[in-house]
Order: sequence, then C-alpha cells, then structure tokens
Amino acid sequence: MTIPFYKPYIAGKELYHIAQAVELGNISGDGHFTQKCCNLMETKFQANKVMLTHSCTAALEMAAILCDIQPGDEVIMPSFTFVSTANAFALRGATIRFADIRPDTLNLDEKLIEPLITEKTKAIVPVHYAGVGCDMDAIMAIADRYRLLVVEDAAQGVNSTYNGRYLGTIGHLGTYSFHETKNFISGEGGALVINDEQFIERAEIIRVRGTNRCAFFRGEVDHYTWVDVGSSYLMSDLLSAFLYAQLENMDQINQRRNDIWKFYHQALVPLANDGRLRLPYIPPCCDSNSHLFYIILPDEATRDALMGYLKERRIHAVFHYVPLHTSDVGLSTGYRPGQLPVTESMSGRLLRLPFYYELTREQQEGIVDTIFRFF
Ligand SMILES: *Cc1c(COP(=O)(O)O)cnc(C)c1O
Repeated sequence: MTIPFYKPYIAGKELYHIAQAVELGNISGDGHFTQKCCNLMETKFQANKVMLTHSCTAALEMAAILCDIQPGDEVIMPSFTFVSTANAFALRGATIRFADIRPDTLNLDEKLIEPLITEKTKAIVPVHYAGVGCDMDAIMAIADRYRLLVVEDAAQGVNSTYNGRYLGTIGHLGTYSFHETKNFISGEGGALVINDEQFIERAEIIRVRGTNRCAFFRGEVDHYTWVDVGSSYLMSDLLSAFLYAQLENMDQINQRRNDIWKFYHQALVPLANDGRLRLPYIPPCCDSNSHLFYIILPDEATRDALMGYLKERRIHAVFHYVPLHTSDVGLSTGYRPGQLPVTESMSGRLLRLPFYYELTREQQEGIVDTIFRFF
C-alpha cells in the first residue's frame, strides 16, 4: 500500500455542522458558522479581529490592499515561499525584494532585511515556514524604526506560538490557510487576522465587494453602496461549518501532529549524528503546530536519490518550493541563480516526509527503516 504525502483529516462533526448550516438557511458568507469560527479564533489566539476568507491567497490580497501598495512600492519577503505570498503584492504593482533565509529555521533572515530597505519600501512579509515562528521581535523592531507594515504569512502557522503569542497576531496583519494540505482544513479556506485596529473598517468593506454592507446590517447606515475598491473574499458558511468541526478539535489535532513529529525526530537522530542528514530546528521561544517534517540532505543528488528510493517503495516524500527568484517570473524581473545562496542550497536539499493525522506508528517505523536502509 502506498503511503501518500498527505491525507485530509476529518475530525467528525463536519457533515453534521454542514446540515445545520443548510437548515439555518444562510449558506453564503458571514452566516452562523463563520461567526462561530471567528469567535473561537479571536478568543483562543487573543486576536483583535479575524475575518474568514475563501483562501489564504485572498487574505494576502486583502492585506496588500490594506497596506495601500501602489505601483513601484517595494515589499520585502523570502524567496523560499509559496507563490501567493509574492503574487498578492505583485498584483498591486509592487516590486518584490527577496531576502535570503536563515539556514537553521529556513525563515526570513532578519539580519538581511535592513540592507534591502529603501524609500520605496512599504512592507515586510515574514513567512513562518513549517509553522515555526520567524524572529518577530527583531522584525517588528525594524518595522518600527522605518515605519513599515508587517504582514505575517502564517498560512502554515495556525495555532503555533512565538514567545507565547500566536503566529498571525504579532504583525499589523496576519493570514491563515485552511487548504486541505494544512493542519486545520475546509478544503479551500483562509483568514485575515487584523491586529492593528486602524484596518478593521476598511477590511470589512474590501472583503464584501467594496461595499458598506456590514455597516448596513449593523444598522449604522440606511442603505448600502459602493464605497471603496474590493472584491468578494468571503467564505461560504457551508465551508465555515466544516471548518468549525476542525477548530473545535484544534488541540487534539495539534497533539497528534506533535507526536508524529517527535517520532520522526527521535528516530532519525542517529543519522543526523552520523552526518547523513540534518534535522529541523525549532528555537526555544517557538511552540510549533508540527505542520510538516523535513530533512536536509548533504546535496541535491542525495536528496533526489533518496526521494526516488522511497518512491520505489511506495513512500511519497516530496521537495518544496522552487525559489521564487529563480522562477520564470523571478528571472524575468532580473533575479539570477546564485543571488540567494542559502535559499537555493536548502531548496535543493530539502525533503518532506509523509505527514498526516492518520499516519500510523507502523507506517512511520517503515518510513524510518527505509531511510536507514538507503544509507
Ligand atoms: C498554503 C500557503 C499559502 C496559500 O494558501 P491558500 O489557502 O491555498 O491560498 C500561502 N502561503 C504559504 C506559505 C502557504 O504555505
């Protein structure tokens, strides 16, 4: 039997909640379950305001509009990330300035941000890779000094903490993903976290097609109309109902994933001690949601050989991002291979192991045995 790389986990009450949403009769955005999901996250994460969106990509697009990004503005982010992190800002005409990552956490290297700041810089977008927090104290201090906005791409970091604060709640804005490959899912889905109060009113408008519909439903205005740019970034209440079943079980899901992560880590320590591979590093101030487990091989040829060896034995291990600066778009905007050495090296040597809630101990033992046999 094949061991897939990931498998969506059903917590139990998803269909029950969806049936309830149907019976309640409001299945478009901002219904009963959307409210319940937002309340749950605002309370648990101590977030000022959480708004559900149909994806993390949508939340990032909202963030770029809220940052008032204009053509020619510059935004600093890692190249080692998903395409949406950059696209949301590129859509508004921003020039993306890619910074290299730290070799230990694979997160944006906070020491490389300042040299990239110019008069045109508007925002910094740290990405919490694998659900492990960036050095947010350092990043927020730089942002304060240069009056820049910080948008946390916490797509992978839902329910992780940095110095006791939940990822996504530290920058001015934060974004979450509930895509089926993430820890807590609704198929497609996301959220915008608004920590700086000044953005709440406009976010409400941008999210609902550029109208003041939300204010209208609160009785604050007597009709609703077009008041700003915007789009439809809402999540259907059918999906919010699904998501609520997941969020209700957030800590149980987290616990299971932490156990899977710890097993891989402990079992692979001997290979790390022999210098065969490198294991992930989590700084002491970070509590991770165990979004994924990766190993770093000594070189790309070994990574590819191990990936092929596992695949022949029906174990699906996968690499991750093609660095954005060496993508077609990156190259066409003037970036060249060799400019971000840590990103390029890590991207070529990284391998993600199968990781999902229902992965059994026996399967994990089989995967680890196969890796040992490879060496
Ligand atoms: C998954 C992911 C996204 C996109 O999330 P969607 O909900 O699929 O739009 C963005 N950034 C990062 C870092 C991701 O891992």
